[in-house]
Amino acid sequence: MHELGIVFHIVKAVEETALENKAKKVGRVVLQIGEVSTIIPSYLEDCFKWKCSKSELMDGCDLVIETIPAVTFCEDCKETYKTVEHGKICPYCGSGNTYLVQGNEHLIKEIEVV
Ligand SMILES: [Zn+2]
Repeated sequence: MHELGIVFHIVKAVEETALENKAKKVGRVVLQIGEVSTIIPSYLEDCFKWKCSKSELMDGCDLVIETIPAVTFCEDCKETYKTVEHGKICPYCGSGNTYLVQGNEHLIKEIEVV
């Protein structure tokens, strides 16, 4: 359950931001999760709800999850392409000399306070 660790990390960051802004309640958090990250959104939601119920600041907070599309870059032909469709092999030149540009990350995009 590595989602739980991520949730702890996210909730901590949100709480810190809320306190800095002297907010009394957080109403909504928008998270972006990479398409090829290992996070399972439904697990993440469950963990998030549980964690929020323990926090006065975040009790009843809504969680919105947005997906960041995974993009891979080819070093040989300098093209980018969709990782999920083509994997590690470049669809333009057939090279395996590629790396993931985005899609493996998770970040807090927005925090809405009440
Ligand atoms: Zn290529």
